[in-house]
Amino acid sequence: MTEYVIAQPAQPSLAIVGEDARFPVRRIFCVGRNYADHAREMGHDPDREPPFFFSKPHDALIPAEGEVPYPSLTRDFHFEVELVVAIGIGGCDIAPADAQSHIWGYTVGVDLTRRDLQADAKKSGRPWDWAKGFDKSAPASPLLPVSKIGHPESGSIWLDVNGEPRQRGDLADQIWPVKDIISYLSRAVALQPGDLIFTGTPAGVGALQPGDVVTGGIEGINTFSFTIASTPRTPATINEK
Ligand code: MN
Repeated sequence: MTEYVIAQPAQPSLAIVGEDARFPVRRIFCVGRNYADHAREMGHDPDREPPFFFSKPHDALIPAEGEVPYPSLTRDFHFEVELVVAIGIGGCDIAPADAQSHIWGYTVGVDLTRRDLQADAKKSGRPWDWAKGFDKSAPASPLLPVSKIGHPESGSIWLDVNGEPRQRGDLADQIWPVKDIISYLSRAVALQPGDLIFTGTPAGVGALQPGDVVTGGIEGINTFSFTIASTPRTPATINEK
């Protein structure tokens, strides 16, 4: 057995509905601008430009329940409800027609975003990492296996804050459906078992405040409810004088 010089980091994983076994998470890929109405609200033309991707560290994953911290370095902390795809079988150059056979299951997650840092990054042509890949930036609900729910291609996707409707969409409105996303992604990297894909968010994104109750879900898949912790973590910013 391999010996390590420090304690081996924990394996991030997702719960599975109705099972004790867990889904080990390898990488988290996210799709930008995959619903036309959200592309428009962010100031972009929703014509079918090829999908683009960014990543979050796998240990950014947390259960979408209980308290979620308000992160450091931001004053514009946004929610983005998304369909999450869990890859069970890896592959390269996967054809869209074969893509579904690589999927283990689905759930709903939230791509938490430091929107002010994202706007700064876009303006200066810098990476999105601190906007998207911060600690605990990827709450997700327990997975549903394909064996139980098949491959949902339509169904409402929604998010409320304090009971007020904020995001309303339908999976059928994705610019790039899941099989195309998998195909594109598998040309850029060898997809591996355990990879998760956050597949983009519908319109209505907005800011969260400490104490907000965030609920949401996807019809036929799963729901979630969490609260933004009442004390912001380190409200100071390193970039301000
Ligand atoms: Mn997103």
